[in-house]
Order: sequence, then C-alpha cells, then structure tokens
Amino acid sequence: MSGKQLKIKVARQVGYCYGVKRALDMAGSAAESGRKPIYTLGPIIHNPQVVESLRSKGIAATDSLDTIGAGTVIIRSHGVPPSVIQEAQERDIIVIDATCPFVKKAQKRAAEMAAEGYFVVILGEKDHPEVLGIMGHAGGHALVIEQPEDLRLIPLRERKIGLVTQTTQSAEKLQAVAGALSTQVAELKVFNTICNATARRQTDALELTDNVDVMLVVGGKNSANTSRLAQMCREAGTPTHHIETAGEIQNDWFAPGNVVGVTTGASTSPDILRDVIDALEIVS
Ligand code: SF4
Repeated sequence: MSGKQLKIKVARQVGYCYGVKRALDMAGSAAESGRKPIYTLGPIIHNPQVVESLRSKGIAATDSLDTIGAGTVIIRSHGVPPSVIQEAQERDIIVIDATCPFVKKAQKRAAEMAAEGYFVVILGEKDHPEVLGIMGHAGGHALVIEQPEDLRLIPLRERKIGLVTQTTQSAEKLQAVAGALSTQVAELKVFNTICNATARRQTDALELTDNVDVMLVVGGKNSANTSRLAQMCREAGTPTHHIETAGEIQNDWFAPGNVVGVTTGASTSPDILRDVIDALEIVS
C-alpha cells in the first residue's frame, strides 16, 4: 500500500477520556498495592490489549460477583446498579469504585428524580451497562428509550417525567426527545448528562469531516461512544470507516491525494492510534 500521497489530519480530542484514564490509574494502583485477588466487573475498557495487560498484572475480568469468592472488585467507569455494590459489600468483597464522575452524575440525577416522584426516562442504549446502572439508581420507576419514537412506550398515567441521558448520546437527540416530551406531559425535568469529553470529541470529529475526504474512527466495535462517533461522521456525509486496529485499513478506501481524518473513541489507547497513523503514512 503506497504512493497515494494522502494527507492525514488527526482530531484534537483523541485517546483516553478522563473517566477511562482515571479507571485505568485506579486499577494500576490496585495492582501495585499487592492486594490479591483483584477483578474488574466486566472488561475495564473495550480494548482487548489493555485487558490482557491488566491480566498479566493479576487483574482478571469477570462477569459476575458469583465468581469472586473473596478479594477486591473494581467497578469500571460505566458504573453499576446500587444492588451490585450492596451485594459485594454483603459478601465482604472490597469495592474500588471507578465509576466515572460524569456517569455518577447521571445516576444521582435519576435517583433524585425517582425519589421526587418523577417517572425517569433514560435516553440511551437499552442493554448498555452504563444505562443498566442508571436504571438501577432510578429504582425501577423508569424506562429506557433509544429514539423519540419510543416515547409512546411511556405509560399514559405518567404525567411527571424526568429525563436523563446516557453520557455518550448526542445533543441533537436529547433536544429531539425533550422537545417531543414537552408537549406530552404536565411536568418535565431535563438533565443534560452527556459528558463533556464525549460532546467535545463529537464536535471535533464533525468539524474534521468538513475538511477531509475519508474519516477513520478508531475504537472498539462494542464501544458506544466510538460507534456513535462513526455514525455521526457518516450522517455528516463523509465516507467513514470504523476500525479497531491498523490491520483493518484497506488501500482501496483512499484515492490519490485524499485528505484522511482520524479520530478515536474514549477507550482507544494512544498506541493503537499511533499504529493507525503509521499505517496511513505507509499508504502515503
Ligand atoms: S466518555 Fe465521558 S462519561 Fe464515559 S468514561 Fe469517558 S469521561 Fe466518563
């Protein structure tokens, strides 16, 4: 792959976000403490290389507290329902809570509104761990919606609605849902719980799409914020490829002289980004 004379433009906001970096630092400190065994509840980030590296330091990923007899569990940045923390404490498992503060804010808002008698609507992906955690904090008096059309699922008797979002949602979608709800209910409370890191990354990527021929979005295929970035770039009309590693880059994606934009999800390591840029330079 060579001779295409590509020009590469990298978005300003790339690499780990604040919440992911914080969770990785907390895991690193736990590993150094010598306290064993240590687990993460689910992979700490959507990045197999990092998960493997933690395993070599004695931190294994598990899907359930049932597999932990004793020891320490790290709650990843997505957070968990309060019942999980409670269960861990009842089993004398030490909890290191690395829930991202932005996610904590969404959990807190959902809990407060549920306590005030609001029916909580969470704009997000139904099965995403972060959304399941927020749902748990709302105590069951809640519904997850993925798009404005899902608003019809809200029980008709609910007249007081509280809206929060998964941190990775777009401002446009929040606006559409809040607008539609405002005409349907007697009382509406809206908290914009989209995280700054996500919003900045989305704005940067969209700006970049205006000035490039092709976009590469680098990050886990199962990462919500990376998939959202790729979707937004596509919707902006720029040919976009969502890749996890440099090995997926194909020569025929680029015409000679193309300007290629590169952005990453919040759990993409600087090493993977470097590999992608190196591979593009070889194409050039
Ligand atoms: S994307 Fe935002 S909410 Fe999610 S972990 Fe990163 S900083 Fe926290």
